[in-house]
Amino acid sequence: MEQQINLLAQLTVVDAQLDELHDELGDLPQEVKKLEAIMQQKLAVAEVTRKLLHELDHLRGTAHVTSQESLDKEAKLSQQQFQVKNNREFDAITKEIDHLKNERAELEDRLRTAGVRDENLRTNLAIQEQELEEASERLKDKEKELEALSGDQNEELRKFIGVRLRLSGLIDDTLETEYERIRTFHANAAVPLRKNSCSGCYSAVPSQRIMEMKYRRDKMYTCENCGRILFTEDVVVDIESILAEA
Ligand SMILES: [Zn+2]
Repeated sequence: MEQQINLLAQLTVVDAQLDELHDELGDLPQEVKKLEAIMQQKLAVAEVTRKLLHELDHLRGTAHVTSQESLDKEAKLSQQQFQVKNNREFDAITKEIDHLKNERAELEDRLRTAGVRDENLRTNLAIQEQELEEASERLKDKEKELEALSGDQNEELRKFIGVRLRLSGLIDDTLETEYERIRTFHANAAVPLRKNSCSGCYSAVPSQRIMEMKYRRDKMYTCENCGRILFTEDVVVDIESILAEA
């Protein structure tokens, strides 16, 4: 049992290392995703501004022709108005002419403000492109960070997973099952005594029990308060030497 408790103590240290490695990556993958979404959004905003600028260019480029076409149409309609047979036809043509006039007024309105609008859009676009650039830089940095960490991590992970496999093979199945069961409640399922207390929950362990633990090494003891597996302080785990053995 003593050997088993030693192995379990090693396993708990290895598991703590593995947990830490997983925590190190932490929110990084999610942060990368968030920055990707922000960049896509900024890309879409700049695209809308570019489209509006393009429409404005088109409006200014074609205004003269559009206006002339409208005037021609109106002249033709005015001509037709002399040849109508009744009031209803006359009114219909008047309506069409009014419509053309409104269209031209609207076009002129838009042309009058086009200069200011163009300037505003260009200012906005410059800001939006700057923001896009910044978002893209932030994303690149985070991606690099994640990549670097994953690289280092993979190597360490492989080492610890290897050690874990070896320990797992040596530990009694019943004991390991119990350890895994406790681990679903407490990340550190097996803990040493410290100052006569469970170092998992800090509750005192009766001295009678501690004595027993020292002299009956063939028995597994658990904390009466938190249920963690306990081992005595003299069981020391040196992570470096475990890795060296691996
Ligand atoms: Zn405890």
